[in-house]
Order: sequence, then C-alpha cells, then structure tokens
Amino acid sequence: MIAICSACGSAAPAGTPYSCSVCGGALLLQYERPDANWNKGAVQGIWKYAALLPDVPVGSRIELGEGGTPLVRSVSLAGRLGLDALYFKYEGGNPTGSYKDRIAAMGVSWTLAQGKEACIGTSSGNAGAAAAAYAARAKLPYHLYVLENMAEAKLAQVLAYGASVTKVVGFGYSPDVGEEVFERVVAASKARNWEMMVTAFRFNPYAMEGVKTIAFEIAEQLGDAAAARVYAPAGGGGLYVGIWKGFDELSRFGLAEGKPHMVAVQPDGCANIAVAYRQGDKHPAPGPATSRISGLQVPNPPDGDAALALMAAGDGSCVSVADDDIYAAQRLLAEEEGIFCEPAGAAALAGLIRERDNGTTFDRGPVVCIVSGVGFKDGASVAEMVKNRDVPLLEVSALTI
Ligand SMILES: *Cc1c(COP(=O)(O)O)cnc(C)c1O
Ligand SMILES: [Zn+2]
Repeated sequence: MIAICSACGSAAPAGTPYSCSVCGGALLLQYERPDANWNKGAVQGIWKYAALLPDVPVGSRIELGEGGTPLVRSVSLAGRLGLDALYFKYEGGNPTGSYKDRIAAMGVSWTLAQGKEACIGTSSGNAGAAAAAYAARAKLPYHLYVLENMAEAKLAQVLAYGASVTKVVGFGYSPDVGEEVFERVVAASKARNWEMMVTAFRFNPYAMEGVKTIAFEIAEQLGDAAAARVYAPAGGGGLYVGIWKGFDELSRFGLAEGKPHMVAVQPDGCANIAVAYRQGDKHPAPGPATSRISGLQVPNPPDGDAALALMAAGDGSCVSVADDDIYAAQRLLAEEEGIFCEPAGAAALAGLIRERDNGTTFDRGPVVCIVSGVGFKDGASVAEMVKNRDVPLLEVSALTI
C-alpha cells in the first residue's frame, strides 16, 4: 500500500509520516482492487470493508457497534423539495452519537496494531467523545485539547469516558490559536510516539479511512438506484473528503458505475472553504469563525486544501448557509421526518434547501443528506427549538381527557 499526497501528488510508502514529507499536504492511502466478494462477509460494521481499510489484525480491532447506520427515506421533505427520492444517512445511530465513531474505531484499532501506548488529539466535541470511548475500551490513555466554548453535553460525554481534557482559550475562534494547538499536538505525538487523533486526513490518513465506510454503506443500501447527489456538512473538510474517497474507490475499482456529485455545506459564519471555492482559490479563505454551529467552527480547516482540490478538479462543490437556516433544517428534520439531530447534522439538508431555492440543476437520481450527529449532543439548541412550546401543568382532576 502507498499513499499519494492530495496537494503535490508525491507518493509515500505507507507507514511513514502522517502528512506529505515534501509539502506537508494530506495523504490519501491507495489500495489494490479488491476481489468481487470483498464486502460479502458476515462481519458487521466498518470491518465488513476491511479489504479497503488499513490492515489491522482481528485481535486489535476495538468495536462498539459503529457503522451499519440506517439510510432513512424522506416521507415529507422530498415532495416539498420536488425530489423523487431523498434519503438521510442517519449517523446519530453510532455508539457515541456521531459518525466520528467510524474514525475512532479505525484509529484506536490502528494505534493498538502499531503498538502505541496513548492517543492525543483536539476536538470540538464529537471526535473527542468517540476517541474517548474507544480509548477507554482499548485501555489507552487519551489526552484531549478542546474549544473554550465546547457544547456542554459533549464535554460531559468526553469526561464520562475518562479522557484527560484541557480547554484552550480562543481555540475554535482564532485561526492562529488553532494552528498553534495543532502544531503543539503534532509535536507531542511525535516526541512521545502517541497516536495523533485529529479527525483530518492531514493529521491521520489511517484513522480517517473509517469515514469512507459511509459511502460504501450508501452504495449498498441504494443498490442499482445509485445516489446522484450527496450533501455533507464541512468543518475541517475531512468528512467530505472521506465520503468522496469511498465513492471514488468504488468507481475506480469498477465496483459501482460513476459516482455522485458531492456538495460540502458550511455555515456562513465559518465558510472558509465555501468562500475559497467561489473565488477559485486553492486554500481556505482566512478569517475567524463566528458561527454558533458546534462541530463546524473550524477557522483553519485542516482538510480544506484537499477538499478544494477535488472541487477544482470538477468533483463536487461547496455552499454556505446561515446558522438560522441550519436551525430551521434541524427543526424540519424532527417535525417532518422524525429525525432528531444536532445542528451540524442538519447543515446538509440546509444546503440542499438552499440549492433547490436557488434553482441549481440536479442530475436525476436519489439525493442523500448526511445527518452527522444525534440531537442529544447539543441540548441548548434543542431547548431553543422548543422554547415557545407551552407545556401546561394541571391537577389530575383538571385533565380534560
Ligand atoms: C466533525 C463533525 C462534522 C464536520 O466534519 P469535518 O470533517 O470537520 O468537516 C459535522 N458534523 C458533526 C456532527 C461532526 O461531529
Ligand atoms: Zn505533497
């Protein structure tokens, strides 16, 4: 197996540094074409796709039931948006409540396979909760550096799994602070031989391979009616690049015909990739994050270059939407479809609604929105959503039923 740099195209032998030694760009692992029965085994979850994942002996695989999430067909919004078939890939069904479990399962298992004895990372919340759960199960210490204003439920969840957590002033708002946190964490991971658990290809192209199992599952779940368009939220850009990589491998190895058009969705208040896309730039536009959407506040998106390179090559596009559009989509998912998600999980739908309103042309075929995390992750957003609802408190004798 080799890795190819997404920025300069240099090849690196697998097992060497986690980013390109020539230019520092994000590496993408390359595989041999798997045999026809590659995904036909009885194994569940991400390891069903082991033929297209980094090699981890069965004894080192840490599992909690990640992956295998439902693809829920829209019963209401599809009609309203004038679509024949709309689906929600519901990643809130993962063990810690977000798709980050796919990365943590892959990354912590990979850590054990390499004989490393601890993990270190940064997170806005969900990646931390996921890595903390898998590290607890693997009995590995996990050192985590988080945003100052991390959503409370996310912090509590990380602490519940026993990770050691430090908040950093300005992290998640200031690009300079973000870059320095990343630098220090990388340096510490190298000096101590700890596994680098930052959910971006630029920092850990092995752990990130877990993401593409989302694409493999969607392809299987839709069968012949392959997805025409897939919307994914983008903070650091890794989710977007990872899902693209999955569809790209299926198409490259002749395991699927063609691939869907992928749309990255960002909040206007942290639209570094979207702005660069609109301007035809190779690098994310600089600027602080003012969005309130937890999980999408990444002012220096580590996989922004990789995502923009795909879009520049004609593979995908990027839109941005207001925070309020995302909150409105979160409410629509709950009220119209019975799907309870955190705000970041509704960004994909908000992007789809924006493109329908704008009259963007769509290829025929199913549209899929990635619903990346469960509603319990961000209680404050749910409280806001229901704040005008009247809940009467009555004596039992006053009940009119
Ligand atoms: C991490 C996360 C995202 C963004 O993923 P990136 O790889 O940073 O673009 C979106 N939604 C949820 C729920 C997340 O946890
Ligand atoms: Zn390079």
